[in-house]
Amino acid sequence: MDATQYDAYIERMRETEYPMLKDATYLDHAGTTLYSKSLLEAFTADMLGNLYGNPHSASQASQRSTHQVQDVRLQLLRFFDANPDDFDLVFVANATAGIKLVADALREHDSGFWYGYHRDAHTSLVGVRELAKEHHCFAEDEEVEDWIRNGGQDTQTRLGLFAYPAQSNMNGRRLPLDWCGRLRNKGMLTLLDAAALISTSPLSLADLDTAPDFTVLSLYKIFGFPDLGALIVRKDAAWALQKRRYFGGGTVDMVVSLKEQWHAVKSTHLHEQLEDGTLPVHSIIALKSAISVHHDLFGTLERISEHTSLLAGRLYSSLKSLRHGNDEPVCQIYKDKASTYSDRSTQGPVVAFNLCDAKGHMVSNLEVEKLAHVRNISIRTGGLCNPGGIQSALDLSPWQMKKNFSSGQRCGSENDDVINGQPTGMIRASLGAMSTIKDVDTFVSFVKEFFLEEASDTPYKRTDSPLLSLDVPVSEQLHIESLTVYPIKSCAGWQVPANTSWEVQPQGLAWDREWCIIHSGTSVALSQKKYPRMALLRPILDFSAGLLRITCAVPIKDATTTEISVPLSADPRCFTSSSKTSTPTNVCGDNVAARVYSCPKISSFLSSVLGVPCTLARFPASFASRHAKAHLSTSNSKTSTPLAFSNESPVLCISRMSVNALNKTIKAKGGTAVPASTFRANIVVSQPLHLPPGTETPYVEDSWTSLAITDKRGGAGQQNDGSKADFKVLGKCRRCHMLCVDQQTAETRQEPFVTLAKTRREDGKVWFGVHLALSKGEKKGWVRVGDQVTAM
Ligand SMILES: *Cc1c(COP(=O)(O)O)cnc(C)c1O
Repeated sequence: MDATQYDAYIERMRETEYPMLKDATYLDHAGTTLYSKSLLEAFTADMLGNLYGNPHSASQASQRSTHQVQDVRLQLLRFFDANPDDFDLVFVANATAGIKLVADALREHDSGFWYGYHRDAHTSLVGVRELAKEHHCFAEDEEVEDWIRNGGQDTQTRLGLFAYPAQSNMNGRRLPLDWCGRLRNKGMLTLLDAAALISTSPLSLADLDTAPDFTVLSLYKIFGFPDLGALIVRKDAAWALQKRRYFGGGTVDMVVSLKEQWHAVKSTHLHEQLEDGTLPVHSIIALKSAISVHHDLFGTLERISEHTSLLAGRLYSSLKSLRHGNDEPVCQIYKDKASTYSDRSTQGPVVAFNLCDAKGHMVSNLEVEKLAHVRNISIRTGGLCNPGGIQSALDLSPWQMKKNFSSGQRCGSENDDVINGQPTGMIRASLGAMSTIKDVDTFVSFVKEFFLEEASDTPYKRTDSPLLSLDVPVSEQLHIESLTVYPIKSCAGWQVPANTSWEVQPQGLAWDREWCIIHSGTSVALSQKKYPRMALLRPILDFSAGLLRITCAVPIKDATTTEISVPLSADPRCFTSSSKTSTPTNVCGDNVAARVYSCPKISSFLSSVLGVPCTLARFPASFASRHAKAHLSTSNSKTSTPLAFSNESPVLCISRMSVNALNKTIKAKGGTAVPASTFRANIVVSQPLHLPPGTETPYVEDSWTSLAITDKRGGAGQQNDGSKADFKVLGKCRRCHMLCVDQQTAETRQEPFVTLAKTRREDGKVWFGVHLALSKGEKKGWVRVGDQVTAM
């Protein structure tokens, strides 16, 4: 089979073996490989056809397990060309556990150990330094080379261990494998982290002169299943692990506990001394199926290596060649200077990069992820568990990283990843055994579609609110079209009746986000982004009954009730008694003390609607910033000064004109218009109906700085029940793919986010609508549908 035929073969195989890849572009293979259908079938057949016992007795079932484990251990050694006379294999939970096992054993040596590690090390390798007496991070290959040439100084006094990844989990760069042999000759122990390498490359330990002392790997990165790791140890380096002090069931032959303390560690095989407790027998047995199915599907790792290398070359050169209209590059790629995509010994099938706009400004990876999500593309973004690699590729100094940490940046959090114009993480696209040319091309078109700016100017220009030659500019003839409160965060809105004056407080419209739904296990407030079905929960503020009623828009399976309610008053009897005060919950990353409802009927109703164990909670009156402030823009994105949030929380306002303009664009491309409710605003403002064509002013809100609301009948404060509220504009509202949830059906679709991302992106972020808060000093305001809105 030539390369094209092999690619077509994988493409066909995906349909039968990997149904989860249907319509999906999975570019996160360095994390884990997907398991195949044949593998699970083979494993199931094995489990159903044979009785396997705990391998500690003489029963047939027990012996069968023991033999299988022995066989698999040997098969795995052979998988890496490791001669069982020279190597032993220790089963561990994952690569990290293998690394930790080595470090734990070395620290027991008399004067501890010296530890050297390469800049490209995975976090799990870096952590070993905390157990070492002395340690050093090598910043460059040349530094390692010099050090080897000079005979490994620093380490004369004590045992030394040098560790590095065979392939960087950040950018896929493959490091020289000859360091191990050369360092052995200098009396240094070596630990090779092969976890990232072996998913797409063979690793041979056949040559004893060059093989590392310790090799760790994650087996799930090759086979997808089972979740196991392995530590392969050279038998002539076994002494280094034998000082380990702990023993457990399985690792000793005899233990005396009474009157005298004595034990004898097992001595036949090294693995017996290191595998504490019962082995994960069924997982190990599953490896038998994994190795054989992997062979049937792909042939060899060499074959996978060739194929993925071809794809990576295509991805790299396509991304590299993307240029904006003004010839600025679209991608900033983090390739190591020592690697070449055409040379598999220096580069694995991974491309790490950031996207830039036409002005050379970095695009936030959060935005990239949101759009990738909509298009069913899986990529990895962030710090990628590779601190040294990130620090050097992004040229971040320790003080910057610490500063970013204190300003809230956390691994895996949703915080902004571009701080002061500098990226703090990157995007990683990694290819695996079942990736195809089509995946690569889909991803490249995706980048082109959303991030390549054809014209030299940005796709979205600030609106200069076009004032029209009427007596009063149309942009000033605004009124409130509708008012909506969202009593429960992330659930459906409740329309304020047309003839009702509604109170505005410093924290927002009265009754807005007064409640939330929290996960019963983690107490984290649920969001529609992850649980679209929240849109089906329709809260009703029933003032005559004094209740918040919660209904569901669709029939609920097995439900005993169609509606639940809680008193609008904060009746203390409704809440869990165990938490006399309140339960710490987490809302959009902030810790908040909310009170949790104790009634089982409430949690069972909500849990059956959402399909997740959850319950209702009420915010304390003092919790003001309960809106989705993560989406609040900064007043000036250039300086990225966060807005002060002390005691105010925004009201979200959109204009009918902008909704109309957006829908026009969506429809022009054959899409379906979306209702204004999609944007989950509190206030929708509108211009007079029946304006002459072309006189609407979409996006006029972008330039507002304040809004005055007055009663259309009287004007400011003329009647007691008259409306009056002065708002300041806090900033534009940053949008995410939550817009793709149809608020009626809870189905997800691509619009309006896709069109917004193409037409309303500025500084790498997507904007629609504005956040408001009562003007400084104002304690209260009143608004009503139909009120006149004067914008400044
Ligand atoms: C994935 C990975 C690890 C960690 O592996 P676990 O199995 O999660 O412990 C360590 N190093 C590299 C290079 C990796 O890619």
